[in-house]
Amino acid sequence: MAKNIQAVRGMHDVLPEQTQSWQRVEKVFQQVLASYGYQEIRLPIVEKTELFNRSIGEVTDIVEKEMYTFNDRNGDSLTLRPEGTAGCLRAGIEHGLLHNQIQRLWYYGPMFRHERPQKGRYRQFYQLGVETYGMAGPDIDAEIIVLGHRLWTQLGIRDKLELQLNTLGSKEERQHYREKLVVYFSKHIASLDDDSRRRLQTNPLRILDSKNPEVQALVEQAPALMESLGDESLQHFKGLTQLLDEMGIDYKINCRLVRGLDYYGHTVFEWVTNDLGAQGTVCAGGRYDSLVEQLGARSSSAIGFAMGMERLMALVEMLDEESSPKRRSIDVFMICVGDKSRAVGMVLAETLRDQLPTLKLQVHCGGGSFKSQFKKADKSGAEVALIIGDDEVANSEVGVKSLRIQQDQNNMAPKEVGMYLEKALDIARRDGRSF
Ligand code: ATP
Ligand code: MG
Repeated sequence: MAKNIQAVRGMHDVLPEQTQSWQRVEKVFQQVLASYGYQEIRLPIVEKTELFNRSIGEVTDIVEKEMYTFNDRNGDSLTLRPEGTAGCLRAGIEHGLLHNQIQRLWYYGPMFRHERPQKGRYRQFYQLGVETYGMAGPDIDAEIIVLGHRLWTQLGIRDKLELQLNTLGSKEERQHYREKLVVYFSKHIASLDDDSRRRLQTNPLRILDSKNPEVQALVEQAPALMESLGDESLQHFKGLTQLLDEMGIDYKINCRLVRGLDYYGHTVFEWVTNDLGAQGTVCAGGRYDSLVEQLGARSSSAIGFAMGMERLMALVEMLDEESSPKRRSIDVFMICVGDKSRAVGMVLAETLRDQLPTLKLQVHCGGGSFKSQFKKADKSGAEVALIIGDDEVANSEVGVKSLRIQQDQNNMAPKEVGMYLEKALDIARRDGRSF
């Protein structure tokens, strides 16, 4: 027998038993984002490779080793998007959404990075991204942070996440700091790993991001960027922390937080959890004003964040297991036995869906005896079974039976079924059998 084909390593399916929670969370995203006046933008999954090279930076994990890049049939180099910020800004510039305008945007969808797959780290993963353009002050920085805070609160995971904050200052300040760092790390070059040695030449700030414990120990003692900052940068940062204080948002200042991408300046932040092991950053963001010019547009301000859906769902599912039971995927199961009953059943089902738009009604397809269909009805988790056999068709009736409480089958005229179901489901809801 031929061997079954499996999914690409690191690319996972989201199975029906999980999609219920995914959809619930996605609805919360939509509601919360709408409540701040953010609008959705839908972007292509494939972009020109040049876009990512130019924006993310040549000397970053993503561009150096994680991109899915290929030549299409015309020989153009294309890349599966590893993140959404570059594509969103590309679209904003291309469609004139930036110049002299303010935008609050969000997108949601899969991203692709060729990383070593492990818990919380996949080669295809979903991100919710939020990007804002045209606002320079710390108020918008505070807004996207409080927006995240509201998302976690609505999802019930607020207590599991800590907000870490830092400022990277201006380009000139980072340049100055870079020199200090080179001097410092050069003195300790013997303790650096190969990656960090290479970065010492190309992008020393990235050494601060190293996951190697020996390098991390050195990083602890390294000069802090905050000490190289001028008044303007410090004022911006202070403006942000003051607003967060006023709104009662807790944060921890983490001077080592640099983020893995080149385009950030001033505010950077991460929402981090201890509950997911090594992959603890659920959401990360920052200000990237310089990227706008870098991509060829007139200068503007930009700040955003990206949240990893799989890591978020791992937290949400932990909570679901602790508290809420699974929601029913169907309310009503229709049993049809006999040729005539099949047509009568399907017609009635359509009428009921017209009458009760939120009703989740499944008609059994594929025949079988009453006994076998009742078994399936029971297993379906539905609250009520509708039964249509030859007798019911002959008498122009529909059988109705609760699958959850002891009750004899009850026959009624088809036009009474809608009202009956509405009541039965209402009672089920009150008794806590419906969510
Ligand atoms: P990490 O340090 O974990 O590699 P990153 O800095 O590369 O993260 P970002 O590019 O900032 O991550 O992406 C934002 C969020 O997207 C991350 O905080 C994380 O939740 C999620 N994410 C990033 N890479 C992956 C991945 N390979 N699999 C699953 N989620 C991911
Ligand atoms: Mg990464």
